[in-house]
Amino acid sequence: MSNQAFSSLDLPQKLLSNLDQLGYKTMTDIQALSLPVTLEGKDLIGKAKTGSGKTASFGIPILTKLNPKFFGAQGLVLCPTRELATQVATEIRKLARYLSNIKVVTLCGGQPIGPQIGSLEHGAHIVVGTPGRIKDHLRKGTLQLEGVETFVLDEADRMLDMGFFDDINYIADFTPRKKQTLLFSATFPTDIETFSKNFQYKPVAVEVESSH
Ligand code: ADP
Ligand code: MG
Repeated sequence: MSNQAFSSLDLPQKLLSNLDQLGYKTMTDIQALSLPVTLEGKDLIGKAKTGSGKTASFGIPILTKLNPKFFGAQGLVLCPTRELATQVATEIRKLARYLSNIKVVTLCGGQPIGPQIGSLEHGAHIVVGTPGRIKDHLRKGTLQLEGVETFVLDEADRMLDMGFFDDINYIADFTPRKKQTLLFSATFPTDIETFSKNFQYKPVAVEVESSH
């Protein structure tokens, strides 16, 4: 833990009290390093291990920019597996409790596509999913990404290992040119640098050595 309180950041009071109710007293190290950067709207590369609290590092900037009245995808989070996407969606829903009526939709493979299309028709503010299934929705025209303001590549090293590069490129082409792109990874192989250059503009790099 960093010993820095969330209240040192310029966050809406309702979000601060929600964090307090969740028992988040101080920021984890990756949150303390990345939130001042991500809240300014800059692109970021964050290197930190599992369990270090990366979700809030991108979940909080997504939520603070969100327009609840616009029922279109404003935050898009790509994850390597269904399990990770589900965890991220659960964590974002917890962070979003202070906002009424925020819809977080999970789009992953290995699950029927019909109910996913139904959820999207009702409107989704934040979409979390695996690259293959999100690409399927784009091909079908059941997902629109022109309202995306924050594009997150979570566990980017694992997504590259799993061969998702082409799918991610395909997806990125549907997002607006002007947006914030955040990349998180536990390791930093050289191909991550190439990956970042493809998607990010002058990213700020932050790194946490230990797990907390
Ligand atoms: P990562 O994606 O880095 O593996 P998560 O974002 O899933 O980590 O967070 C790991 C756990 O820590 C979650 O259960 C989350 O609710 C909790 N957590 C995150 N930030 C804080 C914090 N500042 N204070 C206390 N718990 C936190
Ligand atoms: Mg995570």
